[in-house]
Amino acid sequence: MPTINDHAASSEPARSFAGVIAKVEPLTPARSLRGPFDYRLAGALEDVGVGSMLVVPFGRRRLLGVVVDVAAESELPPERLAEPIAALEADVPQSLVALGLWVAREYVSTPARGLALVLPPGTGTGAGRPLRPKRSLRATITPAGEAALRDGTRMGAKQKAALEELAGAPLGAAALARRTGCTHSTLRSLERRGLIRLESAADAPRRTRVHAVGALARSVSLTADQEAAFATIETNLGTGRPPLLLHGVTGSGKTEVYLRSVAAALERGQSAIVLVPEIALTPQTAGRFVERFGEQVAVMHSRLSQRERYDEWWRMRRGEARVCVGPRSAVFAPFDDLGLIIVDEEHDGSYKQEGDPRYDARAVAERRAADEGALLVAGTATPRPESMARYERIRLPSRVDGRELPPVELVGMAGVAGPLHERTREALDRVRRQSEKAIVLLNRRGWSNFLSCRTCARVWECPHCDVTLVLHRALDEVSCHHCGHREPGPRVCPDCGSTSVARHGAGTEQLERDLEELVAPLPVFRLDSDVAAAAGVATVLRRFDEADAGVLVGTQMVAKGHDFPDVTLGVVLDADATLRFPDFRAEERTFALVAQLAGRSGRGERGGRVIVQALDPTAEALRFAARHDADAFLEAELRRRELLGYPPHGHLIRVVCSSTDEGPELEAAKAIRERVSAAGVPALGPAPLFRRQARHRAQLVIRSQDRVEAIAAVREAVETVAAMREHAAASFAVDVDPQ
Ligand code: ADP
Ligand code: ZN
Ligand code: ZN
Repeated sequence: MPTINDHAASSEPARSFAGVIAKVEPLTPARSLRGPFDYRLAGALEDVGVGSMLVVPFGRRRLLGVVVDVAAESELPPERLAEPIAALEADVPQSLVALGLWVAREYVSTPARGLALVLPPGTGTGAGRPLRPKRSLRATITPAGEAALRDGTRMGAKQKAALEELAGAPLGAAALARRTGCTHSTLRSLERRGLIRLESAADAPRRTRVHAVGALARSVSLTADQEAAFATIETNLGTGRPPLLLHGVTGSGKTEVYLRSVAAALERGQSAIVLVPEIALTPQTAGRFVERFGEQVAVMHSRLSQRERYDEWWRMRRGEARVCVGPRSAVFAPFDDLGLIIVDEEHDGSYKQEGDPRYDARAVAERRAADEGALLVAGTATPRPESMARYERIRLPSRVDGRELPPVELVGMAGVAGPLHERTREALDRVRRQSEKAIVLLNRRGWSNFLSCRTCARVWECPHCDVTLVLHRALDEVSCHHCGHREPGPRVCPDCGSTSVARHGAGTEQLERDLEELVAPLPVFRLDSDVAAAAGVATVLRRFDEADAGVLVGTQMVAKGHDFPDVTLGVVLDADATLRFPDFRAEERTFALVAQLAGRSGRGERGGRVIVQALDPTAEALRFAARHDADAFLEAELRRRELLGYPPHGHLIRVVCSSTDEGPELEAAKAIRERVSAAGVPALGPAPLFRRQARHRAQLVIRSQDRVEAIAAVREAVETVAAMREHAAASFAVDVDPQ
């Protein structure tokens, strides 16, 4: 029976041992099981190295594990060392093993969860073996085959057809059979005659199609500003220099600079990663990379099946695809010759992962670039204060088409009845009369659409979370936006029997109706998470793009990266809703929201304008955004952050303890605070949070100048408290750099 290789169980001194020891981190979700564990490599497994994936015996079980180190000797006596059962075909570049372990440490997670990020898709933590690529035959024409075609050498019709097909490019046997009707034996006889080569190869991976939305990408000659930006990037490639911030207004041609930079990295024989926010929202960007680099691009679309992800992973691992375009997880693309990482729309919150490990792909990109000598380029029209303070900046100050950014008008909503200001109504009416296009952005947080009883003042709340339920009229139901709880729209109050139910706020549906009345007969296109689930974001965007005139209305999604050349009006509703939340990023978010929407307007012949509705139109973030003055905003914001000790002048860690009964979450939070404080790191709280998904929650916030020390203190405290029996009822979530 195999033994458990337990370091703690052995107090014997290190001894030399002929052979190779693999240190294996088991991929188990159990937090308590801490590797790595030693295994002895023998015979066929001797070429196993860091990054190899092994099936290992572990007590009575078999586990999947990753080799994180190899050594000549072990602290364990040879007779206690077990051998791996098998090595898997897939392996991970060494540098990615280090990166996965770094993520685990930096974000206070487990090695298994950190490593799971860098493994082939589908491996998961302890979920068993990953899919293997299916083996199939692939045919390639030989020079003799080409000569035979030219010379008209005698051969069967099917053989000839097969050779002609292959003259273009190698093809899988199955595809060849479909196209020419040739059988397996035809191919074998061609092979015997030396006219083709047959080899076993992974199935030609499925390609994903990315539909172009909006303006078509053409190959262009760069403007002087783009040329200068590209020159800086090019000279920094391969030098190990620190990251660059490409700060360019919307429409300044950042994507074209990315394309050239990626081409430059490829010419140097290196690979490139292009991080984008959710691809469904920005299909144009991914499409332009596919257009420029064809099969060399792997697009990690969220709609890919597990199998397709796996195929794309292998194309990258084998070096067939050398550019990876995708959302945050693309930062773990399995390249071992990385030259460039681009983070497009670097201000976007989607780069932060919400579940454990709560990593920030921008920070991981920075780490990976530094480790592998690759260049990081973060691009945006609205840089984060953190990037502004730490990266060298390149500017693209004007739009490619030479147009000015549109004028932005701030209007106050105090005392205004209904969701739209008079100025907004006028502007929309003008869009209607002239058959133009408008985008209306609803800053969702202020617009929660809830119900109350007019008689007894009952408010409809989620039974699991302490928040109000939101009405969805089209479905005639109310639902919780935190846990997804749904119930039918109420007709009577269950508390007092009254049939008088009041609706508060106006969600996107309500607004859509108002807008339809205002701009009829122009069409209104709604884009929010309900629609995203149903029709698909890309479909709605395409419809809006193809329409001659109309209004696109929706949440933040409408302000993300689309390029519609003929929008003449942009409207932001309740722009300062974000400012009314106690969040140190409120200013940054508000500025970005307005600036990003402003960038969508006035890109065509007819010019454009923007109206921003707010309760308090004098708010600083709004005024800077209205003036398109990112520099002044960033300067003021960095000063404010310095005074308050917020990033980049300090680091935040949030610890949330939760439990089903009330009480244990608070006790656990207190215990953690004590330990953290004892380590000399100040912690605020615990503060109760609203109940979510039927769990009571308490939060601690740690703010520190010393990042490394703070993370270490939190890790030690959480691991200790989590292991204590008296806190067994509590669960823990740690968020380093919360958004
Ligand atoms: P950004 O990413 O900065 O918002 P894009 O890269 O999307 O800007 O460029 C905006 C538009 O300008 C696109 O339609 C793009 O094809 C076009 N464009 C970019 N660079 C040039 C150029 N040098 N000459 C002409 N058109 C360009
Ligand atoms: Zn009532
Ligand atoms: Zn709920």
